[in-house]
Amino acid sequence: MEKKYFIFGACLILIAVAGFLGLKNIQQAKKNISISNQLLTVGEQKSANSNQDAAIDQQPTGDSSQEVAVGNVQKTNNEQSSKSDKQNAVENSPVIKEASSVISNQLSSTDAAKQSSSAGKIVSKLVSWGFQKSSERKIDTVILHSSYDALGSDPFSVSGVIAEYKQAQVSPHYLIARDGTIYQLVSDQNIAWHAGVAKMPDGRTDVNSFSIGVEIINTQTGKFTDQQYSAVNSLIATLKKKYPIKNILGHSDIASGRKTDPWGIIWGKVNR
Ligand SMILES: [Zn+2]
Repeated sequence: MEKKYFIFGACLILIAVAGFLGLKNIQQAKKNISISNQLLTVGEQKSANSNQDAAIDQQPTGDSSQEVAVGNVQKTNNEQSSKSDKQNAVENSPVIKEASSVISNQLSSTDAAKQSSSAGKIVSKLVSWGFQKSSERKIDTVILHSSYDALGSDPFSVSGVIAEYKQAQVSPHYLIARDGTIYQLVSDQNIAWHAGVAKMPDGRTDVNSFSIGVEIINTQTGKFTDQQYSAVNSLIATLKKKYPIKNILGHSDIASGRKTDPWGIIWGKVNR
């Protein structure tokens, strides 16, 4: 009988020891899982931070790489938008927020630099209609106009506006797009058909024969863009260097009652 009790007792001890060891193992395993979760969180935070750093580093110092850099920053932002809540919380931390606002400030100044770089640039786009050839005319007047594409889906479409000129068989010497790019449609020396029946304040008629016509794309109720003002001023400065310009007028100044353009122009912004 004693032996029986001893064996039973030994069994109980074994079970107790086994149970204790098992519990300890489970606790250890739980601890491991929580440590690795913490590591994962830290790792993710680290990678979110390094993305931001990379985005800031990619911000350009010169003009040449601006478009590429902007593309990279936008890509980074897109990648971040699909992240989990945990990472959103990380990104909302004050440090990251500040970095984001630096990026968006840099983006907007990049856009401005991009727009102002094309403003005032003259692109040759000579047409075969809407003018009369001439070799020795005297230019002393610039007439500003505005027009838009009334037929297409985009009123500011450069090709749409030019197609309308073709239809009407008219043309200005220069056409200024919304981004400030200047298209030359007729050479300065040729007489472009832009003014129609008109009379100068000094009484002269046949205005086309001594003037340069400049069309600035705008609707009847719209405003000129800043880029268009800087383009028209740069064009006026260029023309003043080449010709003794005495008059810079709007179409409505020489054809009042018949013409109302250039619509919405603020003459104070034009260097006459
Ligand atoms: Zn006009």
